[in-house]
Amino acid sequence: MNITSRFTRMAVALSLSLSQYAWCAPHVDLDVTLDPAKRTLSATALITTESKTLAFYLADGFILESAEVDGATVPTDRSAIDGLQRFQIELHAGTSVQILTLRYHGELKPLDISMTHDDTLQALPAMASDQGSYLPGNSGWHPLLESAFTYRVAVTVPEGQIAVAPGKASKERTADGKRHAEFSLGHPIDSIDLMVGPWKIHEREALVGDASIRLRTYFYADEDELAESYLDAAHRFIKRYSTEIGPYPFSEFSVVSSPIPTGFGMPTLTYLGKSVLHFPFIRDISLGHEVLHNWWGNGVQVDPVRGNWAEGLTTFMADYAYREDEGTEAAAQMRHGWLRDYAALPIDSERALSAFRARHRTASAAIGYGKAAMMFHALRTRLGDDAFRKGIRTFWNKYKFAAASFDNLREAFEESSEQALVDFFDQWLERTGAPMLEIASAHMASEDGDSRLVIEISQGAEPYSLFVPLRVFAPETEQDFGIEVSESAQVIQLPTQATATAVQVDPGFEVWRKLAPGEAPPILRDLIAADRFLITTVDRNLDESVLAFAHEFSEGKAKQIDADSESDNDWPLLIVGSKPGCAAFLERQDLSPRPENITAGSVEAWIVPEHSRRIVVVAIEPESEKKLDLSQIGRRLRHFGRYSWVSLAEDGTAARGNWVVKTPQITIPK
Ligand SMILES: [Zn+2]
Repeated sequence: MNITSRFTRMAVALSLSLSQYAWCAPHVDLDVTLDPAKRTLSATALITTESKTLAFYLADGFILESAEVDGATVPTDRSAIDGLQRFQIELHAGTSVQILTLRYHGELKPLDISMTHDDTLQALPAMASDQGSYLPGNSGWHPLLESAFTYRVAVTVPEGQIAVAPGKASKERTADGKRHAEFSLGHPIDSIDLMVGPWKIHEREALVGDASIRLRTYFYADEDELAESYLDAAHRFIKRYSTEIGPYPFSEFSVVSSPIPTGFGMPTLTYLGKSVLHFPFIRDISLGHEVLHNWWGNGVQVDPVRGNWAEGLTTFMADYAYREDEGTEAAAQMRHGWLRDYAALPIDSERALSAFRARHRTASAAIGYGKAAMMFHALRTRLGDDAFRKGIRTFWNKYKFAAASFDNLREAFEESSEQALVDFFDQWLERTGAPMLEIASAHMASEDGDSRLVIEISQGAEPYSLFVPLRVFAPETEQDFGIEVSESAQVIQLPTQATATAVQVDPGFEVWRKLAPGEAPPILRDLIAADRFLITTVDRNLDESVLAFAHEFSEGKAKQIDADSESDNDWPLLIVGSKPGCAAFLERQDLSPRPENITAGSVEAWIVPEHSRRIVVVAIEPESEKKLDLSQIGRRLRHFGRYSWVSLAEDGTAARGNWVVKTPQITIPK
């Protein structure tokens, strides 16, 4: 999931300034009063700076009441830029440190709870309601500076509401119908996110090594029973990464429930959508990912000069590492999933990894998360576990609370492995496309009684330097080899048994490559990522609930809607209806019936296998139909885009799977 506040309007300028903070970071001291029900905010900001000129930004519509230094008004020059107001102030010459006092107020937008997850990835305004308020740092609810700054923010809200911001919490108290709390962060940051909600706090002091970390949940009343398991999981993840990388860099960590479907990581906290908190995978996988962002992204910040390395490294050390914990098969499945996502990318939508900043939609995620994680997998294979782990720790120790780029990461791994890695990084970061690995010919040869398998391996016109695993089959045995290739076509000899019968290229999906036919059976994402599709209902009307389902299932993209079930259009087709209705429809249309290996559930979704048209069936148990919230089901199913089928049980658990993947086997002639 995403780190907030980065890669925004001033990303490049900020990342340059981050490396210089040690001697010149300004300090912002904020005193904020916020009323979520009235959607009003008023604040005083004290900005301590050494600069003679200071520029800052406030949200459009906010009113700057005064700007003073030492009690004297200073002239401000105001202009409009990128939906924000920019103020420029000339301070006194001759004084080394000055404190600028700003007073301002503003009205916040009403919180829009109909937002989709993708909506939350766009730039959002500061929003408030008594059910929850989210004030993104880059919205300009506080003075945004052009360089990173340290801060202390004191927030006063009406009793019953609780405010939380990244950093160490202190001076929390409730008196006279108001609740007050302060947050401070000792290292520079580019903006401050502020969240408010009618939560209840659960808290625990957790021991990690020698350090005591304050863990908290800020959950709504109906999430009370989830709190303990989230505190347990957070503790487990903090211990894991403190051991793998280096001590957790903060004194606290909180899980904050969000009324909108966010998945954000901020220093010391994660802001997770209320609608998904009760799913076990959010606690067991997504939470680990967000905890790890305290090292990658918020601990070491991203200098995006050659792309965002933090999402790939976090995905590799969290989501992917948990699959490796399950076993080699689960890990191979995840790698296959990334290659499958890549294969589903619309032609021409691919950009180089060095151009990835933050996730917006499926296309950028396939590169910024999938390809980047595969890069770390390839790097670890090349360097070995020890040098890789040492490189990770070196990088952390060197760049903690500073900004670092892919090049800095490369240098750390070069140091730990004593290998030159410029070519390796260049290939991964700057090139688009991927090799198509094929065995052009294979035959046995023998020399002095030793048998050899001679193969010609090809990879396309503009070759990559690759480490390629090969599997050779003989009666009752298999032998694995690894070879280096760097040419369009290359002849390789392998010392194999004379009885070898067949050979496969990369059966475990270790290489970033184009999948062969047979390796990319259809998955739900083939429809989710389509630019448009048709919807047909059986046994029910094409009503608001079905449209809401389609909207959520397809990332909220505008689609052509057509209820004509007889359409012979070859656009992708979504079929929604009761189980018996769907079965009858498939038979009528001469489509293959529900595949038998799908686990039975109250909602079953699958993409019709081995069909040239992409057809997804969503079949619902008739008794469950009335009880289900279809838009919520759509949102849930979208998370399973990389599978061929998903089945949701009444209790919310999900089973899923893929149609069989067949890596081609090249027969060796006798
Ligand atoms: Zn992330």
